[in-house]
Amino acid sequence: MEKDTNKLIAEIMRKGGTLLAEPCPKCGGLMVKYKGKTFCPKCDNITSIEQIESAGKDNDIATIQRQIITKIKELLASKESDLFVSKSLLYYTKTLVELKKLSSENNEDSNT
Ligand SMILES: [Zn+2]
Repeated sequence: MEKDTNKLIAEIMRKGGTLLAEPCPKCGGLMVKYKGKTFCPKCDNITSIEQIESAGKDNDIATIQRQIITKIKELLASKESDLFVSKSLLYYTKTLVELKKLSSENNEDSNT
């Protein structure tokens, strides 16, 4: 389940969604903003991007990776508890891994 959530987040970000600084208050997972809506894929039971998809521009993967790395730096600089930080880092890292997979799958994007 958790793996699917991370993959979904990677897909959402690629579609132009953004990662929120605050984790989900309920499960501590990543929260994303997409199409002006803020949600937690886990708690809101979103399993596919089609559920929230309508239109939007694709973010390029390098931009998303930079965003995540910025979040990681913010997290490390924050005064949160070790448990909180390591849990969040795990989510970020998994999302980065999924992004890598996405980028190798989408190597032949038409816009060059
Ligand atoms: Zn949640």
